[in-house]
Amino acid sequence: MNVPSPVYLDNHATTRCDPRVIEGMLPYFNETYGNAASTTHEFGRLARQAVDDARRRIAACLGTTADAIIFTSGATESNNLAIQGYLRRLGRSGHVITTAVEHTSVLEPIEALRSAGFPVTILSPVPDGASDSGRVTPEAFLAAVRPDTVFASIGLANNEIGIIQPLREIAQICRDRKIVLHADATQAVGKIPINARELGIDLMSFSAHKIYGPKGIGALFVAPRSPRLRLSPLMLGGGHERGLRSGTLNVPGIVGFAIALELCCHELGPESTRVRTLRDQLYTILKASLGDEISLNGPALEPPDLRLPGNLNLRFQHIDGETLLLHLPQLAMSSGSACSSTQARPSHVLLALGLTEQQARASIRIGLGRFNTHTDIQTAAHLIVAAAQELLHAAGRLG
Ligand code: PMP
Repeated sequence: MNVPSPVYLDNHATTRCDPRVIEGMLPYFNETYGNAASTTHEFGRLARQAVDDARRRIAACLGTTADAIIFTSGATESNNLAIQGYLRRLGRSGHVITTAVEHTSVLEPIEALRSAGFPVTILSPVPDGASDSGRVTPEAFLAAVRPDTVFASIGLANNEIGIIQPLREIAQICRDRKIVLHADATQAVGKIPINARELGIDLMSFSAHKIYGPKGIGALFVAPRSPRLRLSPLMLGGGHERGLRSGTLNVPGIVGFAIALELCCHELGPESTRVRTLRDQLYTILKASLGDEISLNGPALEPPDLRLPGNLNLRFQHIDGETLLLHLPQLAMSSGSACSSTQARPSHVLLALGLTEQQARASIRIGLGRFNTHTDIQTAAHLIVAAAQELLHAAGRLG
């Protein structure tokens, strides 16, 4: 008997590889399989051309030039390279600003630098209850700046509550004060329009597997021709990627990354409208059926530029998130950040909004994406309402 696979609603954790991406990658496994650094022969030269071409196309999607793109294994490595690579190279201590809602691959390297003597300010976001809950305002950022501030790391879009931060304004503050600004844009690239030059950031991390590309390939944008931006590599070796990231290039991954990003950029307008409509429909049905039993974590759904189009983070009044997920094996969702779901701790992002541990545990994250359909939404709404009503009934909350 065929058991239908669950409906995938966890697109912030990762996405299904687009068939067009897979097709474009295939020749680079068994036909054009040369090492892109072995340019003494045709195999290597063709691989090199594919990498150069992919680099140019990725750069074009982000409004920059090819020399600004350093390939890595993913956003975790890009975040580490930006933060540790810049601050360790600085050769002196300096004040660092970040926010309490960053991904652990930003917070952990910053904590390590704090232990090494860098003073750190971790900004709290606008708390739960406000329409811009999760936002770090330019005013709050400015108030944290000190004469010795050298570096800031602010995520462009959050992987749990979907808040989109006012990075352009923050970048202006940084530029005026010669503070290097890093943005973790892993959840934002391909989902909202980004022009790195216009945004005015210095460093930006992103990853292919969040945009319907393959896992294990990411990039760090390093603003071109900026004399301030000298980074130390995390790994020493053959000196690939201008000495910043040694290691044989993942040619199929890089080719797939470029196709994935181009598809996102070409389809961005209609896709984000479609995904946002599905998200809003799901929320409307759930709210109509469950009323005050659910509320939204993070920013309001309107205006649309506050929140990623596919993101929904719901808090239940009287139901534990993990218990609800156990009752919903037909739906693939998350009870918090996938990256922290191996830990029993409640989400640090939800706690940073001022939620209690119990409220954080009573929350689920839904991430809609390219391959979700209207039927998925109907199915998900029906199943969530049924499971929630059953649990409420069992808890004596429903007659
Ligand atoms: N930053 C954010 C905001 C993320 O959502 C993730 C993935 N959960 C990462 C960084 C890490 O990305 P990767 O899996 O490519 O290392």
